[in-house]
Amino acid sequence: MPQAEEEDGALAFFKAQHQAFSETLAEWRGRADMVPALLAQAYSSFEGNVEVQAAGQPAIACHKGCATCCTIRVVATAPEVLMVARYIRATEDAQKKAGIDLRQRIAKADGATRGHGEAQRVKLRQRCPFIEQGVCVIYPVRPLACRGHASYDKRACAEAAAGRLDGIPLSMPHRMVRSLVQNALQSALRDVGYVWAAYELNHALILALADEYNEEAWKTGSDVFGPALVAEVSLDEMADAFDRIRAS
Ligand code: SF4
Repeated sequence: MPQAEEEDGALAFFKAQHQAFSETLAEWRGRADMVPALLAQAYSSFEGNVEVQAAGQPAIACHKGCATCCTIRVVATAPEVLMVARYIRATEDAQKKAGIDLRQRIAKADGATRGHGEAQRVKLRQRCPFIEQGVCVIYPVRPLACRGHASYDKRACAEAAAGRLDGIPLSMPHRMVRSLVQNALQSALRDVGYVWAAYELNHALILALADEYNEEAWKTGSDVFGPALVAEVSLDEMADAFDRIRAS
């Protein structure tokens, strides 16, 4: 597809996603399950659209039991963090019975990684606290960043994880759809006055799990995860980009 046509398609997709998230927010705002409703939509938009965009591309090498790349820095929006916190609380007893203390694991991982940027995190090779026997224990609510990180080459992933290779062949459709869905969600949150930034997952989860009222506080416009902010592109620049796309 010519590049200009591809860009037009991406902009139209962003606008449609923004509209859909805005409608969900209008319907669910003030209700207890607004966060699960938003995230169900985000996951389903990602999965459905990535399937369309990746049609005709090489097969993805990722599969259950492979957690080679789960040393990446995961950056997530507040609703994604809150959704993971909900899931951890709901499954905590079962996890503990299985000998898994997620709060302790998150604290340990955060202690080893806090303040490190994306490239440094890859070098640190600190495993994600949610891996258990190669499987992600929060898989149903894993953030969009994890969903959008898909490789075409398992061997390249292993080489990169061992520090012998700098890059891995990632699926561009997965990255693009993840980014557009996440940005559209952020843009819709911004419109209604919610804090719409993105945060380092482990640090933000420590804050989310420390206070069960953080979800309500976020819904009143409070930046409850502020200390975990990741803003390599400033929020002002992102807001400008969102406005320009919507006006185009
Ligand atoms: S949350 Fe799950 S999918 Fe994401 S990095 Fe951690 S183990 Fe991997």
